[in-house]
Order: sequence, then structure tokens, then C-alpha cells
Amino acid sequence: MAKKKDEVRVTPPRETGRVVRRVFPGPDAGGTPLRVNFDRQAYADLTGHAKESVDAEVGGVLVGEICEDGDGLFVDVRAVIRALAAREARAHITFTHETWTKIHAVLDRDYPDLQIVGWYHTHPGFGVEFSAMDRFIQENFFSGRAQIAFLTDPLGGDTALCFNGAKGIEALSRFWVDGREHKARVPASQSASTAVENAAPGDVRRDIERLEARISQLIQAVDEQRTNFYRVLMTVVVFVCAGIITWVGYAIWSDRMDQLEPPRVQSYVPVPMTIGGETVMLGIGIVNWKVPPRLDALITRAAQAEVELREMQRQELLKLQQERQQKKTKPKK
Ligand SMILES: [Zn+2]
Repeated sequence: MAKKKDEVRVTPPRETGRVVRRVFPGPDAGGTPLRVNFDRQAYADLTGHAKESVDAEVGGVLVGEICEDGDGLFVDVRAVIRALAAREARAHITFTHETWTKIHAVLDRDYPDLQIVGWYHTHPGFGVEFSAMDRFIQENFFSGRAQIAFLTDPLGGDTALCFNGAKGIEALSRFWVDGREHKARVPASQSASTAVENAAPGDVRRDIERLEARISQLIQAVDEQRTNFYRVLMTVVVFVCAGIITWVGYAIWSDRMDQLEPPRVQSYVPVPMTIGGETVMLGIGIVNWKVPPRLDALITRAAQAEVELREMQRQELLKLQQERQQKKTKPKK
């Protein structure tokens, strides 16, 4: 595994390292690198839990003591603490932060004098070969010197155990329940690490192929979505640009058209005028002036206003004259 242990470990399992001096409950067990003994009740709890689900994996942690006698270390499993089951069939059991929190709560409440000596889980119907994921969990969460992995297939009835040996994860061929020996399945090659590499190659490959197919489908879907999105975006951008260009063009055009042209003189009409007793000829130009419609309307309005003003003044004048005439005629009455 490429990842370092410290990066992955969420909450380290409590393996205090405390070693108790005790005599191994079984007969002389020479030739086993690590002896593992299960308390009768703990083993019953474990197998009972294992048989509860034939679809999804179940599992938990093994709680007990690390003991030592004349022959070296052995693990005494005294109880099991259940972890959350995998949610889907064939999905792997996981040790999340939440799982650890619950496990530690139970450990502190019910087994304050014990420590976590390993973990167990099931492979319902697909054998007891340790998968790459199992190996990952063992290496990252249960790396203590006497922490074991216990794997059982509730349908096939097989069991396998491994521990952290000097050369990595190693399989154990035997374990004990209250001192009675049980056989465990050992991969063809004694080295468990080689076995892990060969673990159910067909199964794993098929799973990986399925996963790859699904991922490529997803990537394709995402690509399609992205292309569609860009297409829509481009269309919108083109429309907006066309609109802006049209608007700017119209503005420039209408600005040009609005420009005032100077009035063009068509002809002069000479008009005689008396200025200071002398008669001079003044030329009045008749012009042709193209004015833009807006200005035209303005001029028209101004002209109208002037006409109205003159009319009002004329009326006022008329009224004034009438009043004067009435005043002149009144006294004669
Ligand atoms: Zn597994």
C-alpha cells in the first residue's frame, strides 16, 4: 500500500501494548507464529453475528488481552464489538470515524480493562481470501504487533486468520476456542501477502472491469453534458454579440442621419427696405434645409407657439382698442 499508516488512521484502535502473563489455555501449540484463543462466548457472538447476514458483509472488532507465557505471545479474544454493517450486498465493511466512535464508546463502557486485538468480518458466499481492501484495513487500522484479522464465510463455512508478521501480513493455520483447536484455511502459498495478490482474481477483475465501464460511462455522460452546455452558451453569446453589434450600428447610423446639414440657399428675393431714411435692397434667401424629423417637430412646435403668441397679442390689442372706444363714447350719454 502506498499510503502511510498515519495518513489514513482516523482513530487508532486502542492497543495499549499491555501484556498479561498467563498460561495458554490449549495444549502445546508449537509451530504457530501467533496463537489466538477465543473465549467460548466471544466466538459464539462472532459466528452468530456472521450468520445474521448472507448478503452484506458484517464485522466488528475483537476485544481481549495480549498474553505471554513460556512459548511467547498469544492473543486471548474475550469479546466482540459489532461495527456498522456494509449498506449494500458485496460492498465492503468499512471503518469510518463514526464506526470508531461507537466502538470506543462500547469499549470504554463494557470492557475498560481490555484492548482491541483485531477485527473480524464476513465474505458471505465468496470464500475467505483476504482482498486488497482487507489487507489495506489490516495495515492501516490494525497494525499492532498482536492484532489479527479474522475472516469467515457464513455460507461456505471457511475461516481464515492473519496477523502482522515480520514480513507483512501472514496467515495462521490454527486458532483455539477455549483451548480447543480449530483449523483455518491458509492460502496455497504460505505467504499471505502473495495470497492477497492472487485473491479471487476473477472476481476482483470482474468488479474492476464493471467499475471501469461505469466510470467511462459517467465520463462520457459528463462530456456530453459539457458539450451541450457549451453549445447553448455559444448560441447565447452569438445572439448577444449580434444584438450588441446591431444596436451599435443603428446608433452610429442614426447619429449620422441626425447630423444637421447647413441650409442650402435656393434663390434670393430682393426686398426694398427703408433704413435711416434711405432705401436699401435687402436680399432674403430662400433656403432648402433638410432637418431631421426630431428637429423638424421642434421647429414646427416653436412656430406654432409663435403663431399662438401673436394671435393672443392681437386679441389683447383688439380688446384694449374696444375698451378705449367705449370710454370715449360713454361720457356723451
Ligand atoms: Zn473482506
